[in-house]
Amino acid sequence: MGTRQRFAIPDGWVARGFRFEVEPTSAEQPGRIAQAFGSRRFAYNWALAQVKANLDARTTDPAVPLLAWNFYELRRAWNQAKDAVAPWWRCSSKEAYASGIADLVVALHNWSDSKAGRRAGGRVGFPRFKARHRDHGRVRFTTGAMRLEPDRRHLVVPVIGRLRSKENTRRLQRLAAKDRARVLSMTLSEQGGRLFVAVQAIVCQQPQTPSQPQARCGIDLGVGNEWAVVAHHDDTIERIAHPAPWVETHTQRRRVARQRSRRIVGSRGHRQANAKLTALDRRAANLRTQSIHTLTTRLSSRYGTVIIEDLDVAAMGRGMGRRAFRRTVAQAGIGRVRPTLAYKTAWAGGQLAVADRWFASSKTHHGCGGYLADLTLSQRVWACPWCEQTVDRNANAARNLRDWTGPVAADSDGDRDVQRGGVAAPVPLVGDHGGQAHAPRGACEAPQDHPRVAGATDTRTDPGSRSKGEEPRAGVSASERSQTLTELVTVASPDGARRTVQVTLGQFPG
Ligand SMILES: [Zn+2]
Repeated sequence: MGTRQRFAIPDGWVARGFRFEVEPTSAEQPGRIAQAFGSRRFAYNWALAQVKANLDARTTDPAVPLLAWNFYELRRAWNQAKDAVAPWWRCSSKEAYASGIADLVVALHNWSDSKAGRRAGGRVGFPRFKARHRDHGRVRFTTGAMRLEPDRRHLVVPVIGRLRSKENTRRLQRLAAKDRARVLSMTLSEQGGRLFVAVQAIVCQQPQTPSQPQARCGIDLGVGNEWAVVAHHDDTIERIAHPAPWVETHTQRRRVARQRSRRIVGSRGHRQANAKLTALDRRAANLRTQSIHTLTTRLSSRYGTVIIEDLDVAAMGRGMGRRAFRRTVAQAGIGRVRPTLAYKTAWAGGQLAVADRWFASSKTHHGCGGYLADLTLSQRVWACPWCEQTVDRNANAARNLRDWTGPVAADSDGDRDVQRGGVAAPVPLVGDHGGQAHAPRGACEAPQDHPRVAGATDTRTDPGSRSKGEEPRAGVSASERSQTLTELVTVASPDGARRTVQVTLGQFPG
């Protein structure tokens, strides 16, 4: 391993993920794809068996050395063993096995971090063996022949070959052709019977400024009929309705699910009902994603400051009694608006401010300061106890957020405590780890050291530098970082200031 230079994303570049739905172009490709998925799963299960055997041996005899949960070590062990345990290994790309091992290392560390309380979110169990019917097919390629074809309709993935994209690949191919984007990895995966390629790339992005850099807007998100209420800078109120198709898909979903429950498992009718359910779920998810992206892109490209409420979405989805309410919380996807805004405002040159969780945006009358303590959730309109005007709950809350004057930390470096205090945060809270501020995590090696950037990330960390004190974690940081869908990335602006933002990527190679 030795000492390796850490890769920082070059100034003016950002890490971005691009996702395309693809379909096979030849009759033998589905077989090769299934083989790649299976190879990944085989390596995962093999490595898990090694780890379990080692742990079992240590319980009976503590003198047995601990097998390092380290991608490089495990991959080396796999390469030594593969001729014996998988004599057919040549039929798949070596990347398939490597990605299975990398995924296992991530899973092991998620488990140990969760157990030690170093990880936010729900409890994570010990990794299980993957059965074919339970595993989602996926495989990540970090080296080899992968590119976007100039016809903007095809992607080339190692060993599997050309895949046709159902969507024009222009937004990435154009940049790659001009050398303004470099592909780091491609992940082929299957979801609900469809194939997707997630391309992870670094993109040279010109610094931008929003069209109204001095202006502010406030967003109040809700679960009622009004999904989002935006108070614009010119004091107009924009109400965005809960897209009706969500409700419609939900009604259909109930009907189809009931149908399926009456059919015999394994029968053709059961399979058909299942396919219908998958299609409905896909539609609901796509609608949600669409709404979130349209809203956030529009606001971040326009305003210098966007202010949003600090909602405890997890608690909303957990408690509150009624199942219908919890479902609406999930359907509205309000937990995704803030992280999306956080990276988009950073790209657009603006900032996202997060109002204090205890800021009574709904109960305070904007402009007059009248306060109604006993406002219930169902009251859409209330009368101000001071000026006796009728107040529209959501519009009032959005105005209050827009004019929120809490301290704005323009360049807080991902410090979660600062955000908890209710001040502005250019960094989202979701997906981070155990409340600890991290060093920029998108770091990997400089691409100039790697003429073929495809292989660059294979050596992204310096295992030696992180191994002190944490025995089983030795040298595992690269793999731990791999596979994460959101990453903290340092973005440099032209004035030399650096800020860390969390962005959604494809999967990082391990
Ligand atoms: Zn009032």
